[in-house]
Amino acid sequence: MLIEIKELERHPIDFAEDFAPGVIDLGAEVKQDSVVKTSGRAQLVEEHHGKHQIIQDIRIKGELSTCLELPCARCLEQVKQDIQRNFELLYRPLGADAGREELSVTAAEAEVGYYQGEGVLLEDVLREQILLEVPLKVICREDCKGLCAHCGKNLNEGSCSGAEPIEDPRWAALKEIRGKLEN
Ligand SMILES: [Zn+2]
Ligand SMILES: [Zn+2]
Repeated sequence: MLIEIKELERHPIDFAEDFAPGVIDLGAEVKQDSVVKTSGRAQLVEEHHGKHQIIQDIRIKGELSTCLELPCARCLEQVKQDIQRNFELLYRPLGADAGREELSVTAAEAEVGYYQGEGVLLEDVLREQILLEVPLKVICREDCKGLCAHCGKNLNEGSCSGAEPIEDPRWAALKEIRGKLEN
């Protein structure tokens, strides 16, 4: 969905959209497991520079939610992770800040991005916001045993045959009984 300057010049745009998995490109690491739900409002903010120059910024305020699938940091199994994020962004025309050290007051209060051409593609806004919300590390469960350092086997599915066997206490008990019988 393109949020167009031309339309914003007439009125703010309220949006409420669902994006199916695959529509927003989240890269190879992050898998989208449910629709991205988003709603919010886009508005035009006009900045006057001197008498003749007007800079048209696009302010977008909204929220998103979805469910992602991310690899467990220990065993690499896919883990479902619900995410939710509120955002307030200001998109300025590309080049508007060229050669200027300071941003205007309006720009300083929100996250600032840049747009080129007709306007801002909502899908691009969402991609960036979703990726910002991806946790650095997820684990499938508190006691995830991870992968065997020697052969790469998932140790949640059983211990590795190559590793030192951990003695089962029941065997230890049997050995003790046998020891007693033999004496
Ligand atoms: Zn795990
Ligand atoms: Zn192993």
